[in-house]
Amino acid sequence: MADSARLETSHGRGKQCKALGCTTLLEEGCSRYLLKKRLCATHFKAEAVRCKHDPQTLYRYCQQCGKLEELSRFQGTKRSCKSSLQSAE
Ligand SMILES: [Zn+2]
Ligand SMILES: [Zn+2]
Repeated sequence: MADSARLETSHGRGKQCKALGCTTLLEEGCSRYLLKKRLCATHFKAEAVRCKHDPQTLYRYCQQCGKLEELSRFQGTKRSCKSSLQSAE
């Protein structure tokens, strides 16, 4: 098979960061946590991330929920979404 240029495959080795336009490969050097989330350290911390699977929407990684959530769910530059902050207080 000569489809090595295919970007959308999620299986196979050499996992790529799922942020749009990011070519960082998540390899052994990354933390297991980032590897599991398929985000490079830069996009893990980024205020806004566009994903390959949904380029129209801006996301941010929510540290409370442990996943990417839509930017509208956050207040300011916080890293936890509004709903998780509400339940925490
Ligand atoms: Zn990235
Ligand atoms: Zn959240």
